[in-house]
Amino acid sequence: MANIIAIVGRPNVGKSTLYNRLTESRKAIVDDYSGVTRDRHYGQGEWTGKRFTVVDTGGYVHGSDDVFESAIREQVLIAIEEASVILFMVDVTTGITDLDDAIVDVLRRSKKPVFVVVNKVDHSLLQQEASIFYSFGLGEIYPISSMTGSGTGELLDDVVQHLEKDEEEADVRPTYAIVGRPNVGKSSLINALIGIERNIVTPIAGTTRDSIRIHYNQYGHDFFLIDTAGLRRKTKVKENIEFYSVMRTIKALEESDVVILMLDATEGIESQDINIFHLAEKNRKGVVILVNKWDMIEKNNKTTKVFEDLVKEKIAPFTDVPIIFTSVTEKQRIFKAIEAAAKVYENKVKKIPTSKLNDVMLPIIENYPPPAIKGKYIKIKYVTQITGRSPMFAFFCNLPQYIKEPYKRFVENKLREHFDFEGVPVQVYFRQK
Ligand code: GDP
Ligand code: GDP
Repeated sequence: MANIIAIVGRPNVGKSTLYNRLTESRKAIVDDYSGVTRDRHYGQGEWTGKRFTVVDTGGYVHGSDDVFESAIREQVLIAIEEASVILFMVDVTTGITDLDDAIVDVLRRSKKPVFVVVNKVDHSLLQQEASIFYSFGLGEIYPISSMTGSGTGELLDDVVQHLEKDEEEADVRPTYAIVGRPNVGKSSLINALIGIERNIVTPIAGTTRDSIRIHYNQYGHDFFLIDTAGLRRKTKVKENIEFYSVMRTIKALEESDVVILMLDATEGIESQDINIFHLAEKNRKGVVILVNKWDMIEKNNKTTKVFEDLVKEKIAPFTDVPIIFTSVTEKQRIFKAIEAAAKVYENKVKKIPTSKLNDVMLPIIENYPPPAIKGKYIKIKYVTQITGRSPMFAFFCNLPQYIKEPYKRFVENKLREHFDFEGVPVQVYFRQK
């Protein structure tokens, strides 16, 4: 399942403001002028039980006005190919500009649903003015105010109709996505596993391709790999290479059960890697980290530990993740990486019997109960695992609203200690009984 919502539009219409609202980004960085480098351009959102990734296309292109139009047109093309739904944002306070028209030209070719989102309709008097955007001929328009949030509910109600539901992934073979920055060794790993040189280049802009899924069935392992390296797109504008690779990575990630995140040992873990890691975590995917090119590092008996600690510090608080030091070219620990992914998958789908859960967890809770609040004692009576696509546990108690974050973390850590959820995000809920 890949639900990707791409927000396209010219600078300053309010794309990143909407992005922040849809993803409820805490670290919202919205600047009063365009062209400012932003921290993050993709994140998770949810509406009426449907989950999706929102991509703010704006942040990728900087530069002079003459490259701007072609860069944005190209981004819109990529968005049409890769996203599930396009939100085309315009600004009611400026009306229709030439750049808006240029984008509409591209969007007319879209087979994907396009929503015309008229932003900055902060009060009802502006509703009337929004109607000029019907002249695009792209159908219904959605007047909203990203700033206040008005109209976004109606927009999302319609948008999620075009998204897929979370499916139960019972007894299907696991899918692993191999992701990471360019040059970390993704293709080399795939080649080493599959044993043939594959070089898939798609030089024609606008050709439709599916993600490359490779079936692997050897040495007692049966799974699918999603290759994000095999696909390279020729782009006219350099910055769009990153945009394209981000789109592909999100898609691969959403379609997988376990994400194999490759790092380059000579470069360490960078912000892009951390972003992918958090996206996997929020998407409730299993994660294995490979530190590749380990052959290139001068080592003593502490090197592995030092590197591991460094990575864990960066990915905190979710640090219960296998980290494997590989050399694809020297064929070191490649198989171990696959075993780790298989183990993570197992951890992700396993169900702990309720009796066993209670036998282990209730004495722990009894010894270390949640702190009393306002003289009230919290009694946790029992715990059960909720079925879902990743481990979730419901603890039934008298006053769930009084359970604070540190206690949730304590309980999660105890679950990890006793039942092994290495590599998988674990959700802990407290409910009224
Ligand atoms: P982007 O370049 O398309 O990502 O646009 P931004 O999200 O950075 O917004 C550009 C400017 O428009 C900022 O000053 C925002 O505060 C402002 N803005 C965004 N949404 C709204 C809105 O709904 N109403 C008003 N009045 N201003 C908005
Ligand atoms: P991708 O862009 O992530 O698919 O990376 P590639 O698989 O194309 O690898 C980029 C370069 O790194 C190639 O020259 C590989 O031979 C080299 N490389 C990949 N894995 C290793 C490794 O473990 N050790 C060393 N020394 N080089 C590697």
